Amino acid sequence: MEDSTRQLYRGYIERTIQPALGDMAVSKLTARTLETLYAELRRCRARCNGRPFVEHKAEGEHDCTAEKCRAHVCRPMAASTVRQIHSVISGTLSAAVRWDWVDSNVARVAQRPKQKPPQPDPPSPAEAARLVEEAFAMDGDWGT
Ligand SMILES: [Zn+2]
Ligand SMILES: [Zn+2]
Repeated sequence: MEDSTRQLYRGYIERTIQPALGDMAVSKLTARTLETLYAELRRCRARCNGRPFVEHKAEGEHDCTAEKCRAHVCRPMAASTVRQIHSVISGTLSAAVRWDWVDSNVARVAQRPKQKPPQPDPPSPAEAARLVEEAFAMDGDWGT
């Protein structure tokens, strides 16, 4: 895998997978959890709760006008991106099966969004698993 691709997938792990599933034991994951997550991402990539809020451009006290803070607008995550995230999760679960943390890979049965035009190749499960093993090494929360 090229470095740019690795970074892309690491970004998915840090921005989407960890916040969404980081508190959940791998053994508690179900196909339904994954499908719900994918549906949420297809509605809003920030997975907001649907209530209006302002996206602040600065931390702490600041002048929202000067910083040009804007009201959040939901933007769907592309189906191809959700599929890549699915690949990473599936890779993780394959590793989890290998390590006897779980009996089966629930991602195998989860419905993922339909593919439209071809995008950069999703990682193979083995590649994804390797990446996720690195992610575990960085932050051991998921899976312990
Ligand atoms: Zn602000
Ligand atoms: Zn939103």
